[in-house]
Amino acid sequence: ATPTSIMAGSGRAAEFGILFKGGHHLEAAQGVKVVVVDKTGTVTNGKPVLTDIIATAGNETQGRVLAENRLLSITAAAEKLSEHPLADAIVAGAQGRGIDLPPAEQFEAVPGRGVSAVVDGRKVSVGTRRMMIENGLDIEAWTGIMTRLEHEGKTAMLISVEDAVAGVVAVADTIKETSRAAVARLQDMGIEVIMITGDNKITAQAIAEQAGIRTVLAEVLPEGKAAEIRRLQEGGVKVAMVGDGINDAPALATADTGMAIGTGTDVAMEAADITLMRGDLMSIPDAILMSRKTMRNIK
Ligand code: ADP
Ligand code: MG
Repeated sequence: ATPTSIMAGSGRAAEFGILFKGGHHLEAAQGVKVVVVDKTGTVTNGKPVLTDIIATAGNETQGRVLAENRLLSITAAAEKLSEHPLADAIVAGAQGRGIDLPPAEQFEAVPGRGVSAVVDGRKVSVGTRRMMIENGLDIEAWTGIMTRLEHEGKTAMLISVEDAVAGVVAVADTIKETSRAAVARLQDMGIEVIMITGDNKITAQAIAEQAGIRTVLAEVLPEGKAAEIRRLQEGGVKVAMVGDGINDAPALATADTGMAIGTGTDVAMEAADITLMRGDLMSIPDAILMSRKTMRNIK
């Protein structure tokens, strides 16, 4: 590999908004056989919108709107300090309905699970089934509602107040305009595309279908993403990881080629080998093709 051709290749890539951190990353990308893409903010726009707030698992309709607005206000209050796109959707949705948020204290984010905070003196948690079960709560009455929303491709989260589940909040995200075409391009290049997400299996499957992705790894905890990459690397398979979130950083560092979405978090960009400034998945085949071309010129 001549330094000159590597430099020329890096320069060309930069013109396309593909920033290689070093020449050896440009060399490595050509060998990628599997591309693992994060769901939220990578395949999707990562700008979910609030769609549902459900305050009762039963049939009573008395005072439902009031109950729902009340539930949404404490839910959004608990999410206010979270940087997660899901949190932004919930807060924006509440504000859009003209709901005032009470102050929250003792905010805590539990990566891959959800958040909790003390609102109006009561502990409020918002997150996954797993989070609620780990907190010792009974979620039985709510699982039917969760599943219905997830089949619609929405991300549904349980809300607990003190020691009981009090409702469900759901948001919907859309896939990026170019995701499907980019996935098809990678597949045409002989590269396998796998989607990885902390989100539940049903929602993940619905989104993957829209993007033409055939393999899905769902309900993967942040620490589990790197382990999945290592598993895929067994036998020397070169794996690229593409992500935007703090929770993607260990996987980005573990992959043979880590690609961070330039519109994502700084932590992801620091952990990655390549930053994709354009923010859409088309830059993935572009980066690999540029690497292939550069290396071909060298040989
Ligand atoms: P992804 O891999 O899609 O970026 P994460 O690993 O960040 O997702 O989150 C996985 C799941 O944890 C989410 O689908 C959601 O159910 C829950 N979760 C994460 N952050 C929050 C939050 N701020 N509020 C509520 N739920 C959350
Ligand atoms: Mg993400």
